[in-house]
Amino acid sequence: MDYPLTQIKGIGPARVKAFEAAGIRSVRELVMFLPKEYRDLDDVTALCDLKPGDTAAVRVKVAGEATLRYARKLTIVKVYVTDGTETLPVIWFNQPWLKTQMTPGRELLLYGKAELRTGCVTLMSPTLESGGGLAPVYRSIPGIPAKALRQSVEAALHICEGQWPDELPEALRREYGLCERNFAMRCAHFPDSREALLAARRRIAFEELLLYQVALSLFRHTSREGVAVDFPDDAVERFWSALPFSPTHAQRRVLDEVAADMRSSRAMARLVQGDVGSGKTAIAFAAIALAHAGGWQSALMAPTEVLARQHYEGAKQLLEPLGLRCGLLVGSLTQKQHRLAHEAIASGEWDVAIGTHALITEGVAYRRLGLVVTDEQHRFGVRQRTLLSEKGDAPNVLVMSATPIPRTLSLILYGDLDISIVDELPPGRTPVQTRIVPESKREGLYGFLREEVRKGRQVYFVCPLVEESEAIEAQPAELLYEELRTKKLKDLNIELVHGRMKPADKDAALERFRTGEADVLVSTTVIEVGVNVPNATVMVIENAERFGLAQLHQLRGRVGRGAHESWCFLMAEPNARLKFMCATSDGFKVAEKDMELRGPGELFGTRQSGALTAGIGALAGDTELLKLTHDAAHELLKNPDTDDARAVVDLARERFADRLEDIGIN
Ligand code: ADP
Ligand code: MG
Repeated sequence: MDYPLTQIKGIGPARVKAFEAAGIRSVRELVMFLPKEYRDLDDVTALCDLKPGDTAAVRVKVAGEATLRYARKLTIVKVYVTDGTETLPVIWFNQPWLKTQMTPGRELLLYGKAELRTGCVTLMSPTLESGGGLAPVYRSIPGIPAKALRQSVEAALHICEGQWPDELPEALRREYGLCERNFAMRCAHFPDSREALLAARRRIAFEELLLYQVALSLFRHTSREGVAVDFPDDAVERFWSALPFSPTHAQRRVLDEVAADMRSSRAMARLVQGDVGSGKTAIAFAAIALAHAGGWQSALMAPTEVLARQHYEGAKQLLEPLGLRCGLLVGSLTQKQHRLAHEAIASGEWDVAIGTHALITEGVAYRRLGLVVTDEQHRFGVRQRTLLSEKGDAPNVLVMSATPIPRTLSLILYGDLDISIVDELPPGRTPVQTRIVPESKREGLYGFLREEVRKGRQVYFVCPLVEESEAIEAQPAELLYEELRTKKLKDLNIELVHGRMKPADKDAALERFRTGEADVLVSTTVIEVGVNVPNATVMVIENAERFGLAQLHQLRGRVGRGAHESWCFLMAEPNARLKFMCATSDGFKVAEKDMELRGPGELFGTRQSGALTAGIGALAGDTELLKLTHDAAHELLKNPDTDDARAVVDLARERFADRLEDIGIN
């Protein structure tokens, strides 16, 4: 089935290139390119029921002459259609040929989104469909029109018809009720029914998740020679006693695990998970100090410049007194500063390089890299983590994540890592009080905020990002900022940060908040990651209903870092999800609930899934299936000498060997 794509009618050299750019190099891989969703063309909506915002299929007749108009660089074809219940306009942009095709009386099956345009419900750029049933919708590939893509997949399926060997052992298929492979491939693209589609997708996802987990477990505990750091026995104690506070039990335990890893000649690959505020930074700094005590250089990579700078400041306070020379390397430095930084890293003048992605760019060469720390792992791809460790000769790798992840899922996401959990908060923290605030109570909230500021405290406002498709002139954060600054809280000092600001401006604004010069910080979710201002006691989250629970919990963790009572206000109408947030402050419970409510899809996006194909990664949005395949893999590997287990292990190797090597597990 590894036939070249050119076997398919209509695919020439240009399209081969376009497919290759999307990672599709053979007929088999084209069949593996699964739809991202399906349109139900049997579920037809009557025009009179169509509301703005609906996406629907409609069966209509062309009810008049089409018109063609030019507006700047656009061509606009407009035609009225009817289904007997109502007559509505349809508009297409930049498809002028449709004008002549829309002959009065022609019957159409359209699929698209209805919007309100000049007071009239209008179908915007619907696709012309035919037939019925569930129609596949593919992720678009630049250079391949949607229709051609669909036809190519159909042709590819035709070529492969009946040729997929059913490699999973029969007993396994029967035990888990998995449908046949050829049926699954066909129905995943062109399902006969909803039931067939579900069965098909379940079969494909099951297979891939099972094999992935089997492959991970094969590679997992094979030891990999790496840097063994030889630090003095009292180095750990020396570090703890240099801290301004005494470590929690959890911090001690986790550092002991880390220290043992670093000492051993097996390269450390450890994930440190812990709720926001659990004190992971101290553990990272400790590891860096140990590396230094053993004569090795370290790198600490953070996902944002703000966070990198914050770590740098922390390192200067904590590590420099211990004799470590710390340096900062981030994108916004001048060329000259970049050069100097590169030199300082290469010569070993810096004992620890702290920064962003800039740390892994090509020009950076380390002197004696023995430890690599990445903070807030969920922001990085596995690939980036690997790139950083490739800068050394099998250095120790420490990954820190503030996203509590249910155990099953972390086995899959971080199957290649050992896991330590910091399951204790430093003493003296009062849990953050969380409340839902409906719009009607907003004014009252502002009064409360003033009172807090009068007491010397600070306030965060966080607004959700707006999707581009609904983009308005200004982002909500900017609008809110204006409103607060000029009206609602004009007596307070307010700062704004959002993603489109220049890094220098952003940092300056954050700095004014950190030093207490500003009372209020309005932002998009840029502050989600790691910012630490202990004096901030109030977090207001706008449109809280738009955030996932895990994300709300992350945001909430920005407050409650000092000794004062802290508050998180969820601006939204009450619902069960948000009430759950008010009732619990345990990050792992929140994560479980989040997964239960939304499936692990969010956590399991392509970024995290590493070796999983994007298509299947999306299929993995099913907690039950994750558990099931996890147990199935476990069950199989318990008796690795059975024929079935061998067959599955071979399959897993074959399917994932390359990709696992690619992400640095070998
Ligand atoms: P996170 O795990 O979210 O990265 P941080 O490392 O930023 O948490 O720690 C949060 C705050 O708690 C910091 O101000 C840090 O100095 C403080 N902290 C960390 N460990 C302790 C401790 N054992 N006792 C008291 N305060 C601590
Ligand atoms: Mg942190």
